[in-house]
Amino acid sequence: MNGNLKLALQKKGRLTEKSLELLSLCGLDIENYSERLVVSVRNFPLDILFLRDDDIPEYVQDGVADIGIVGENVVYEKQTGTKVLEKLGFGRCSLMFAYPEKNELKKIEDINGKTIATTYPRILNEYLKKNNIKAKVIELSGSVEIAPSLGVADLICDIVSTGNTLMMNKLKKSFKVFESEAVLISAEEKLKDPKLNEILNDLLGRIRSVKTAHSSKYLMMNVPKDSLETILEIIPSLKSPTVLSLAEENMLAVHAVIPSDKFWQIVNDLKSAGASGILLLPIDNLIQ
Ligand code: ATP
Ligand code: MG
Repeated sequence: MNGNLKLALQKKGRLTEKSLELLSLCGLDIENYSERLVVSVRNFPLDILFLRDDDIPEYVQDGVADIGIVGENVVYEKQTGTKVLEKLGFGRCSLMFAYPEKNELKKIEDINGKTIATTYPRILNEYLKKNNIKAKVIELSGSVEIAPSLGVADLICDIVSTGNTLMMNKLKKSFKVFESEAVLISAEEKLKDPKLNEILNDLLGRIRSVKTAHSSKYLMMNVPKDSLETILEIIPSLKSPTVLSLAEENMLAVHAVIPSDKFWQIVNDLKSAGASGILLLPIDNLIQ
């Protein structure tokens, strides 16, 4: 016990790079981690444990790690009782039904009586129960997409992001069962050890600031003095915009932090209101 907070990350897989990138944006200087199980952070009281993603909820629940980063799909499938502290906005994917192209699946009820292969039996069974569907569920540990062509199942329920694997196996996407993204989990909402809890809160604060910063942009433009009011009404600012005077007397500079996805919706309105020299800049961190 060195008093550091212990974070479990996926050792090698789809979540590894993005998880490390998030920690680095939080200002954490992580030691070179290649092939090591535990790695320390040089400038923050955190140890990182690299594990198989399937094991993360259990290790967190058992206290081997205090917190973990893992897909919601794994959290809900394992049902170990861990709590989701924060959604992280990466590793997005969906658990969906897919069936051989030559067949038809128009409505959910058509699944009645069918055999479904999946690596997510718990999430699937819960979904079937909720929708009042009786079907046979076969649990496989991988390569679910080949089950229909082997004659083992009529359809599958699997993670889909781009759909390429499905296409290669002549399967068609159908109803969505579950949507997932990477989340930060812990055994309890608040860690028992107050010191560790303090470290966790510091880390959570940094993660939230990175998340807001990434979904925000810094907008700068010049506007004629008499259209200032119209311009301020258009800007969906997180807080009051900054207005600065310019050398040119009838013009002002307006700066504001806006949600990134709003920019293209407002840019034409800004231009019609007389804004010029519109600049949109990325933000590294945003502490509110
Ligand atoms: P491990 O060896 O750690 O058990 P794995 O093969 O089970 O790895 P990955 O394929 O690396 O897991 O996926 C990890 C997580 O990434 C998934 O549980 C899911 O939350 C998320 N994910 C995002 N996109 C996809 C995708 N296209 N296919 C599968 N998982 C995805
Ligand atoms: Mg796994």
